[in-house]
Amino acid sequence: MPHLSSSRKAPVSVRITIIGASITGLATACVLRRSGHKVLVVEKSDGTFRSPGIIPSPPNMTRVLQRWGLQSYLAKSGMVVDQFRFLEGQSGKIIGVLKLYEELLKDLMADFLLIQHGDLISIFQDIARREGVEVRYNTTVVKVERVPLAALLENGDILYSDLIVGADGPLRSISRDAVLLRQIEELPTQHVCFSFSVSLSDLQADTELEGICEQRNWNMWLGDGFVIYGACHVERNRYFLCITTEMHGDMTEYQGNWTKQYPVDRFDLRLERFDPRIQKLLRMAEVLIPTCHVFIPEPENLICDLDKVILAGQSAHPTMPDGMHSTAMCIEDIDALDYLLTRIRHVDEIPRVLSAHEELRMERCTHAREWELRKLQMFTLDQGEDRELRDAKIRCLSECEDMEEKEYAFNDLWGEEVDFYAYDPIEQADNWWSMYGTVISQRTP
Ligand SMILES: Cc1cc2nc3c(=O)[nH]c(=O)nc-3n(C[C@H](O)[C@H](O)[C@H](O)COP(=O)(O)OP(=O)(O)OC[C@H]3O[C@@H](n4cnc5c(N)ncnc54)[C@H](O)[C@@H]3O)c2cc1C
Repeated sequence: MPHLSSSRKAPVSVRITIIGASITGLATACVLRRSGHKVLVVEKSDGTFRSPGIIPSPPNMTRVLQRWGLQSYLAKSGMVVDQFRFLEGQSGKIIGVLKLYEELLKDLMADFLLIQHGDLISIFQDIARREGVEVRYNTTVVKVERVPLAALLENGDILYSDLIVGADGPLRSISRDAVLLRQIEELPTQHVCFSFSVSLSDLQADTELEGICEQRNWNMWLGDGFVIYGACHVERNRYFLCITTEMHGDMTEYQGNWTKQYPVDRFDLRLERFDPRIQKLLRMAEVLIPTCHVFIPEPENLICDLDKVILAGQSAHPTMPDGMHSTAMCIEDIDALDYLLTRIRHVDEIPRVLSAHEELRMERCTHAREWELRKLQMFTLDQGEDRELRDAKIRCLSECEDMEEKEYAFNDLWGEEVDFYAYDPIEQADNWWSMYGTVISQRTP
């Protein structure tokens, strides 16, 4: 298992409490600890659960993980995707293939990967152990006090620190309440993401199914009001799928659920609208993990007015369950935060760099949220003119002889997505620091 690669050490070691030990919390702890800060993580669960679901790591996220020194791990557990194959949701016919060209990937210096959520948690837990991070499991924070800065625990203990990072996720975030001084309204939706997996060998042995098992392909079935993602993981010998669709009835039970499995026949998925191969895969799977999307308006601030509590990851930028950039935004948040905190020379400078972080991250993450929603709308169009236009562009990617037309179709469909891949949080933070960093240092006595 890898260590984090060494980095610049912070001139001042800040005492940091991190709330939540999922991807954001653990990664924050590992990176800030490596930079010389004193970190303590508190997590309400026992930390043993491993979610089998798949997390996309677009090149902007993979590049940061590589910079942290995780190459060997990514080589082992990441599934490289270099083409997105779009299929008609009901018939399963291929509409077209969107290829990430080699030159583009070379320029981006990182792959598009799919990684199991549980694998990412395991690696960060392992690094946290090696870096000497203290993680207290089965420990729930019930309140964040701002003066003096402290996290109050359910067991009555109080944790004082110079900075609190709220990595407690999208739903009912305690740290978000402290930052906003109110509870944000969480709006349930009928959108549910059903994750499941089946044995890859079983698929390969089935003549009807083997056609969807090619490696490096991310299959996307685009249907009337639904989208289905599917990809194979050779190491795990599994084929992973995720169906996002609107459901009728009360879905409250599945809000924020990533752990509980239910039998397939519990849900009226209206199977007849799916490619017969998807219907077969569902019969093979037997169980599903349903996660209902709760729409959470983006908080207007990511730091409190005293600027010693900062939201990071999903508490700051709540997204839909199967977002392509959800975890990438978490990882980018941490990279930028580490850069800024490693440059201050006194704890009094914390509020100023946190404001910088908010300024740097807010616009980027709002853009990501909006793009995810537009992409979902584009993928789930009902039959009609807009859908025909979309499919014509996808077809052009595979069939068009005219390079100019092909490039136009690529940019129109995926240009905004590719722009996300080029972003580098350190570059942005560095630009900010070169403009305003000296002012921060000069203001410190
Ligand atoms: C158990 C679990 C499994 C998941 N599986 C998948 C998956 O398969 N596929 C996928 O796409 N996404 C999954 N997600 C969501 C995914 O982790 C996020 O979308 C994102 O990638 C990382 O978000 P995050 O770390 O900011 O927040 P989250 O992942 O939501 O983590 C928040 C953490 O904070 C802890 N916490 C919350 N409140 C408190 C409190 N008061 N005191 C102490 N600790 C607290 C929670 O227990 C949790 O561990 C899962 C999340 C969880 C919690």
